[in-house]
Amino acid sequence: MKVAEIYKSTQGEGILASTESVFVRASGCNLRCRYCDTPLASFEPRGDDLSVDQIVEQVEQLGGSHVVLTGGEPMLYAELIPLGRRLREKNRHITVETAGTLYLPVACDLMSISPKLSNSTPSPADEPKWSPRHDRTRDAPDVIRRLVREYPYQIKFVKPVQKCLGRDAEAMLDAEQQFIRPVLFLNAQLIDRIAHSFCRHKKSSGKTVGRAMGGERFCA
Ligand code: SF4
Repeated sequence: MKVAEIYKSTQGEGILASTESVFVRASGCNLRCRYCDTPLASFEPRGDDLSVDQIVEQVEQLGGSHVVLTGGEPMLYAELIPLGRRLREKNRHITVETAGTLYLPVACDLMSISPKLSNSTPSPADEPKWSPRHDRTRDAPDVIRRLVREYPYQIKFVKPVQKCLGRDAEAMLDAEQQFIRPVLFLNAQLIDRIAHSFCRHKKSSGKTVGRAMGGERFCA
Protein backbone atom coordinates (compact mmCIF):
# COMPACT_ATOMS: atom_id res chain seq x y z
CA MET A 1 0.00 0.00 0.00
CA LYS A 2 1.12 3.56 -0.60
CA VAL A 3 2.29 5.14 2.65
CA ALA A 4 2.93 8.88 3.01
CA GLU A 5 4.70 8.63 6.38
CA ILE A 6 5.23 6.50 9.48
CA TYR A 7 6.12 8.37 12.65
CA LYS A 8 5.67 8.42 16.40
CA SER A 9 3.69 11.19 18.05
CA THR A 10 0.98 11.90 20.59
CA GLN A 11 -2.62 11.32 19.65
CA GLY A 12 -4.25 14.73 19.80
CA GLU A 13 -7.91 13.85 19.42
CA GLY A 14 -10.66 11.72 20.85
CA ILE A 15 -10.81 9.22 23.67
CA LEU A 16 -7.10 8.32 23.30
CA ALA A 17 -5.90 11.93 23.27
CA SER A 18 -2.42 12.22 24.82
CA THR A 19 -1.59 8.55 24.10
CA GLU A 20 1.79 8.08 22.48
CA SER A 21 1.18 6.26 19.21
CA VAL A 22 2.83 5.23 15.98
CA PHE A 23 0.96 6.74 13.02
CA VAL A 24 0.87 4.95 9.68
CA ARG A 25 -0.48 7.46 7.17
CA ALA A 26 -1.86 5.84 4.02
CA SER A 27 -1.52 8.01 0.95
CA GLY A 28 -4.64 8.45 -1.14
CA CYS A 29 -8.20 9.46 -0.41
CA ASN A 30 -11.57 9.03 -2.11
CA LEU A 31 -12.62 12.50 -0.86
CA ARG A 32 -11.31 16.04 -1.32
CA CYS A 33 -12.44 18.06 1.72
CA ARG A 34 -12.09 21.81 1.29
CA TYR A 35 -10.38 22.05 4.70
CA CYS A 36 -8.11 19.01 4.26
CA ASP A 37 -4.98 19.39 6.38
CA THR A 38 -3.16 16.39 4.91
CA PRO A 39 -2.88 17.19 1.19
CA LEU A 40 0.15 14.90 1.01
CA ALA A 41 -2.31 12.04 1.43
CA SER A 42 -5.16 13.39 -0.71
CA PHE A 43 -4.79 16.32 -3.13
CA GLU A 44 -1.09 15.66 -3.78
CA PRO A 45 -0.53 12.07 -2.68
CA ARG A 46 3.08 11.27 -1.85
CA GLY A 47 4.91 8.30 -0.45
CA ASP A 48 6.24 4.87 -1.28
CA ASP A 49 4.62 1.55 -1.93
CA LEU A 50 5.42 -0.51 1.14
CA SER A 51 4.68 -4.16 1.82
CA VAL A 52 2.92 -5.21 5.01
CA ASP A 53 6.26 -6.63 6.24
CA GLN A 54 7.99 -3.30 5.68
CA ILE A 55 5.28 -1.39 7.52
CA VAL A 56 5.31 -3.78 10.48
CA GLU A 57 9.10 -3.57 10.65
CA GLN A 58 9.02 0.25 10.82
CA VAL A 59 6.24 0.19 13.42
CA GLU A 60 8.26 -2.21 15.56
CA GLN A 61 11.37 -0.05 15.29
CA LEU A 62 9.41 2.92 16.64
CA GLY A 63 8.08 0.83 19.55
CA GLY A 64 5.11 1.57 21.80
CA SER A 65 1.78 -0.13 22.31
CA HIS A 66 -0.63 1.95 20.18
CA VAL A 67 -0.82 2.21 16.40
CA VAL A 68 -3.05 4.58 14.43
CA LEU A 69 -3.86 3.67 10.84
CA THR A 70 -4.79 6.97 9.28
CA GLY A 71 -4.70 8.80 5.97
CA GLY A 72 -5.88 9.93 3.55
CA GLU A 73 -8.37 7.09 3.74
CA PRO A 74 -6.72 3.89 4.98
CA MET A 75 -9.84 1.82 4.21
CA LEU A 76 -9.00 2.22 0.51
CA TYR A 77 -6.34 -0.46 0.92
CA ALA A 78 -7.14 -4.16 1.23
CA GLU A 79 -3.64 -4.57 2.71
CA LEU A 80 -5.12 -3.11 5.88
CA ILE A 81 -6.58 -6.55 6.59
CA PRO A 82 -3.25 -8.45 6.85
CA LEU A 83 -1.62 -5.38 8.40
CA GLY A 84 -4.22 -5.27 11.17
CA ARG A 85 -3.84 -8.99 11.73
CA ARG A 86 -0.05 -8.70 12.05
CA LEU A 87 -0.27 -5.74 14.43
CA ARG A 88 -2.78 -7.64 16.55
CA GLU A 89 -0.33 -10.54 16.77
CA LYS A 90 2.21 -8.03 18.09
CA ASN A 91 -0.28 -6.95 20.76
CA ARG A 92 -0.65 -3.45 19.43
CA HIS A 93 -3.79 -1.43 20.15
CA ILE A 94 -5.11 -0.43 16.72
CA THR A 95 -7.07 2.71 15.91
CA VAL A 96 -8.39 3.19 12.39
CA GLU A 97 -9.17 6.79 11.44
CA THR A 98 -11.68 6.86 8.60
CA ALA A 99 -14.27 9.14 7.04
CA GLY A 100 -16.70 6.20 7.15
CA THR A 101 -17.33 5.81 3.42
CA LEU A 102 -15.65 2.41 2.93
CA TYR A 103 -15.79 -0.86 4.80
CA LEU A 104 -13.06 -3.47 5.35
CA PRO A 105 -13.08 -6.32 7.88
CA VAL A 106 -9.94 -5.05 9.58
CA ALA A 107 -8.64 -5.91 13.07
CA CYS A 108 -9.33 -2.74 15.06
CA ASP A 109 -9.74 -1.75 18.71
CA LEU A 110 -11.13 1.72 18.06
CA MET A 111 -12.89 2.76 14.86
CA SER A 112 -12.52 6.53 14.83
CA ILE A 113 -15.10 7.79 12.35
CA SER A 114 -15.11 11.33 11.04
CA PRO A 115 -18.19 11.75 8.83
CA LYS A 116 -17.91 14.53 6.30
CA LEU A 117 -20.83 16.96 6.09
CA SER A 118 -21.74 19.31 3.25
CA ASN A 119 -19.39 21.99 4.59
CA SER A 120 -16.52 19.71 3.48
CA THR A 121 -17.38 19.87 -0.23
CA PRO A 122 -14.92 21.95 -2.26
CA SER A 123 -16.43 24.62 -4.49
CA PRO A 124 -17.16 23.61 -8.09
CA ALA A 125 -15.13 26.62 -9.23
CA ASP A 126 -12.00 25.38 -7.43
CA GLU A 127 -12.50 21.66 -7.99
CA PRO A 128 -14.86 21.12 -10.94
CA LYS A 129 -14.13 17.40 -11.15
CA TRP A 130 -13.87 16.61 -7.45
CA SER A 131 -16.72 18.75 -6.11
CA PRO A 132 -19.59 16.53 -7.38
CA ARG A 133 -17.58 13.36 -6.82
CA HIS A 134 -16.80 14.30 -3.22
CA ASP A 135 -20.44 15.20 -2.56
CA ARG A 136 -21.64 11.86 -3.97
CA THR A 137 -19.12 9.84 -1.97
CA ARG A 138 -18.98 11.52 1.45
CA ASP A 139 -22.43 10.42 2.65
CA ALA A 140 -22.43 6.64 3.26
CA PRO A 141 -24.75 5.96 6.22
CA ASP A 142 -24.88 2.20 5.59
CA VAL A 143 -21.10 1.99 5.97
CA ILE A 144 -21.18 3.99 9.22
CA ARG A 145 -23.98 1.80 10.56
CA ARG A 146 -21.92 -1.31 9.86
CA LEU A 147 -18.75 0.13 11.39
CA VAL A 148 -20.48 1.16 14.62
CA ARG A 149 -22.25 -2.20 14.81
CA GLU A 150 -19.05 -4.20 14.47
CA TYR A 151 -16.38 -2.15 16.27
CA PRO A 152 -15.74 -0.13 19.41
CA TYR A 153 -16.00 3.37 17.98
CA GLN A 154 -15.94 7.11 18.41
CA ILE A 155 -17.48 9.68 16.10
CA LYS A 156 -15.64 12.93 15.53
CA PHE A 157 -16.72 15.91 13.52
CA VAL A 158 -13.69 17.73 12.17
CA LYS A 159 -15.42 21.06 11.65
CA PRO A 160 -18.13 22.75 13.68
CA VAL A 161 -21.53 22.10 12.19
CA GLN A 162 -23.12 25.48 12.86
CA LYS A 163 -23.35 26.16 9.14
CA CYS A 164 -24.97 22.85 8.25
CA LEU A 165 -28.51 23.30 7.09
CA GLY A 166 -31.24 21.26 5.44
CA ARG A 167 -30.05 17.81 4.41
CA ASP A 168 -27.04 17.89 6.72
CA ALA A 169 -29.12 18.89 9.71
CA GLU A 170 -31.38 15.93 8.95
CA ALA A 171 -28.34 13.69 8.55
CA MET A 172 -27.03 14.82 11.93
CA LEU A 173 -30.38 14.05 13.54
CA ASP A 174 -30.42 10.68 11.88
CA ALA A 175 -26.86 9.92 12.98
CA GLU A 176 -27.58 10.90 16.56
CA GLN A 177 -30.75 8.85 16.70
CA GLN A 178 -28.97 5.81 15.42
CA PHE A 179 -25.52 6.03 16.92
CA ILE A 180 -25.55 8.36 19.90
CA ARG A 181 -28.31 7.88 22.43
CA PRO A 182 -30.05 9.38 24.27
CA VAL A 183 -30.60 12.34 22.00
CA LEU A 184 -30.47 15.46 24.15
CA PHE A 185 -30.91 18.76 22.37
CA LEU A 186 -29.60 19.66 18.98
CA ASN A 187 -27.58 22.78 18.92
CA ALA A 188 -24.05 23.45 17.81
CA GLN A 189 -22.46 23.34 21.27
CA LEU A 190 -24.12 20.06 22.14
CA ILE A 191 -23.24 18.53 18.82
CA ASP A 192 -19.62 19.47 19.38
CA ARG A 193 -19.77 18.13 22.93
CA ILE A 194 -21.44 14.94 21.83
CA ALA A 195 -19.00 14.48 18.97
CA HIS A 196 -16.02 14.81 21.24
CA SER A 197 -17.32 13.14 24.38
CA PHE A 198 -18.89 9.87 23.37
CA CYS A 199 -17.08 6.66 22.87
CA ARG A 200 -17.77 3.00 22.87
CA HIS A 201 -15.69 0.45 24.64
CA LYS A 202 -15.50 -3.16 25.65
CA LYS A 203 -16.25 -4.27 29.19
CA SER A 204 -13.98 -6.87 30.69
CA SER A 205 -16.68 -9.44 29.93
CA GLY A 206 -15.96 -8.75 26.26
CA LYS A 207 -19.48 -7.41 25.70
CA THR A 208 -19.44 -4.13 23.87
CA VAL A 209 -21.47 -1.33 25.36
CA GLY A 210 -21.77 2.33 24.63
CA ARG A 211 -21.07 4.84 27.34
CA ALA A 212 -20.84 8.58 27.48
CA MET A 213 -18.08 10.27 29.44
CA GLY A 214 -20.69 11.16 32.07
CA GLY A 215 -21.62 7.50 32.43
CA GLU A 216 -24.91 7.40 30.54
CA ARG A 217 -25.37 4.22 28.61
CA PHE A 218 -26.50 4.89 25.08
CA CYS A 219 -26.47 1.58 23.30
CA ALA A 220 -25.82 -2.06 23.99
S1 SF4 B 1 -11.17 12.62 4.24
FE1 SF4 B 1 -9.39 13.43 5.37
S2 SF4 B 1 -7.62 13.08 4.04
FE2 SF4 B 1 -9.46 12.84 2.77
S3 SF4 B 1 -9.73 14.86 1.85
FE3 SF4 B 1 -11.00 14.78 3.72
S4 SF4 B 1 -9.70 15.65 5.34
FE4 SF4 B 1 -8.34 15.14 3.60
